[in-house]
Amino acid sequence: MSELNLILLGPPGAGKGTQADRLREDFGLPLISTGDILRSQVAEGTELGNEAKRYMDAGELVPDQVIVGMITDRIAHGDARDGFLLDGFPRNREQADALDDALSGLDRRLTAALLIEVSDDELVSRLAGRRVCVKNPSHIYHIQFDPPKHEDVCDQDGSRLLQRDDDREETIRRRLEVYHAQTEPLIDHYDRAGLLRRFDGRRSPDEVHAHVRATVATLRLEEKL
Ligand SMILES: [Zn+2]
Repeated sequence: MSELNLILLGPPGAGKGTQADRLREDFGLPLISTGDILRSQVAEGTELGNEAKRYMDAGELVPDQVIVGMITDRIAHGDARDGFLLDGFPRNREQADALDDALSGLDRRLTAALLIEVSDDELVSRLAGRRVCVKNPSHIYHIQFDPPKHEDVCDQDGSRLLQRDDDREETIRRRLEVYHAQTEPLIDHYDRAGLLRRFDGRRSPDEVHAHVRATVATLRLEEKL
């Protein structure tokens, strides 16, 4: 049986979510995201879920070992036996090592790490240009790519448009600094292991998708050989 054990890497705003959804459809892979797992295990009241909840209730970060335990459980479980797509994990080198160990424990290994690359300046212009309707947050515009007819006014209901705090340039730059500090060693790690595949995230979502899909299809063929 050939497996596709994939992780998806890329900075915030690179369009990972879109690509993850499409890959899941293309290859029938379960998409495993840390946030979803955490929420479902807490809701189900599993042992790890209860442990995580104690940290969250205390306003603390859930430690890596708890997250890794949950991911390992999830990977060993039914629908992920033939492969998975991990999004939002690993985030740092320690988590990557823990994932490698967990996979070898299951007699499996990673097939590839897919990296969607976009420069910081490009991300800032994408994210900082967003404007959101104060009345309905699903009314989203972009001052450059999808501007409203009248500046700072929602086309659909005439309400004011605002920039969310998360979309301010300083906030984005800070998130990107954190991303680079944590993820660069990770990228290096997968590059050395020969697992890294890079994609040009400046292209349109459709073009990125076509490239990623072709690469993953090739990987699957190679796994079958
Ligand atoms: Zn509106």
